[in-house]
Amino acid sequence: MNGLMMDRQLLVSSILQHAERQFADTEIVSRETDGSLHRYTYRDAASRSRRLANVLAKLGVTHGSTVGTLAWNNHRHVEAYFAVSGRGAVLHTCNPRLHVEQLVYILNHAEDEVLLFDATFLPLVEAVAPHCPKLRHYVLMSDSHAMPASSALPGLACYETLLEESSDAFVWPEFDERTASTLCYTSGTTGNPKGVLYSHRSTILHSLALSLPDTLSLSAHDCVLPVVPMFHVNAWGIPYAAAINGCKLVLPGPRLDGASLFELMETEGVTCSAGVPTIWLGLAQHMEQSDCRPSTMRRSVVGGSAMPPALIRTFMERFGVEVRHAWGMTETSPLGTQGSLLPKHASLPVDEQLAQRSKQGRAVFGVEICIVDADGNHLPQDGRAMGELMVRGPWIAAAYFKAESPALRDGWFPTGDIATIDPDGFMQITDRAKDVIKSGGEWISSIDLENAVAGHPEVLMAAVIGARHPKWDERPVMLLVRKPGRLLDKDEVLAYLAERVAKWWLPDEVIFLDGLPLGATGKVQKRDLRQQYGGVLLDAAA
Ligand code: ADP
Repeated sequence: MNGLMMDRQLLVSSILQHAERQFADTEIVSRETDGSLHRYTYRDAASRSRRLANVLAKLGVTHGSTVGTLAWNNHRHVEAYFAVSGRGAVLHTCNPRLHVEQLVYILNHAEDEVLLFDATFLPLVEAVAPHCPKLRHYVLMSDSHAMPASSALPGLACYETLLEESSDAFVWPEFDERTASTLCYTSGTTGNPKGVLYSHRSTILHSLALSLPDTLSLSAHDCVLPVVPMFHVNAWGIPYAAAINGCKLVLPGPRLDGASLFELMETEGVTCSAGVPTIWLGLAQHMEQSDCRPSTMRRSVVGGSAMPPALIRTFMERFGVEVRHAWGMTETSPLGTQGSLLPKHASLPVDEQLAQRSKQGRAVFGVEICIVDADGNHLPQDGRAMGELMVRGPWIAAAYFKAESPALRDGWFPTGDIATIDPDGFMQITDRAKDVIKSGGEWISSIDLENAVAGHPEVLMAAVIGARHPKWDERPVMLLVRKPGRLLDKDEVLAYLAERVAKWWLPDEVIFLDGLPLGATGKVQKRDLRQQYGGVLLDAAA
């Protein structure tokens, strides 16, 4: 017997309609490329999104068409989020930090017909355009007075002019909630990027899970700053979740350095933020140097790579900001697990609480996780057994866009991450399968070594790679960036680590660098480091 509830579809347009009805006056503030702040309300965003939907119709965008964006976190990008998906087309958010060839690949693979882009990316769009025959319309997201006098792009249109010429009378269509809403490509560290195609249903369910108290804990009293880019897994779903909950939304535009973020947080009264650890490192450095602390920020959600415990401690103890460690990937929308503590942890000594917070956390409702060995056998959740992390749930990818081979194994998505799960369900990533160091048949966790050294007061950041070794196959080599003006040397690093990790884990070499290569999503590029330093132990042995 079926229930007798209405069969209303879960659609992205309903989020904006809700925000317009319930939180019409709540602000969306965005940093423009010139540094000025743009300010308007959900009422304005809804009206302009309807205009944009009419513009898209005029440009020939129909149900199922794909529309690309190359844009920062700003109000026009928010309008594209709602207008494109709302009218039944697919929003493809392109990562401008991809290599040009990869960008051409994803634009063609997605078959984007229209590209909406910020002025910053005009040269990039001019470079890719000749290689993207399906792209029919180029729209520069700018005012008419800021349009370039000439451009190599055929029929380049001005976003604001198109909006002015359109009406805001538009009725959002209703369709099946399983319809594709957005498309994001993984950054393609190995091979071509792979497309993950979200649906309206998965987007809404994910946004609700993201809002829960142990996750972002959002309400109309919050002011949310997503530092994570809107071209990276839909800014982790925050633009949707903020509109569902009526949060004031603050968008940082292109300025992601510690000083700019701190100023924005203070002037706008940000209570909650989200981003990768390198962003928080920059913010911590700024606050340490300027001897200041945030006055309204209460919590930050950190994911994308492991947040070193020392940095979690700095935020919590010195700056009064609760750090919630979360894990996810493009294929998981991205929210998979979150690390808020259980009541029983409150009585633990601070160091043990910190150790628990440093884990990637428990599965949120809707997501199931397990770990398996190389033969696919399920491993115990005892906090010790290490295996590949598998996930399943209604906002986890079942297949890649246009891919021939299946993405799932026995109904689960294999993440490529190696993890443990403790009896309370707290998952801890030991490594990505490709980053784990295989030394004489045993595994060494690069993340554990990085976390251990990150506690040293003179260390800014560190990455550990497996370097080829004539006897042990691989041995750890540490690439380390010192804080400015510090003279820490190899012996001091090894002595510090010797007190914290097993002796056989100690790196065979410590190399001091001025900086580490960061990828398209702000993560350290270990592949580049392996290419450059993977042979140092062989060279030394020769
Ligand atoms: P990319 O491949 O560009 O890094 P994703 O953003 O999809 O794309 O990366 C997902 C991966 O990032 C995960 O599989 C995991 O290895 C890593 N990751 C995400 N969150 C965390 C975290 N909190 N701690 C450690 N690793 C993480």
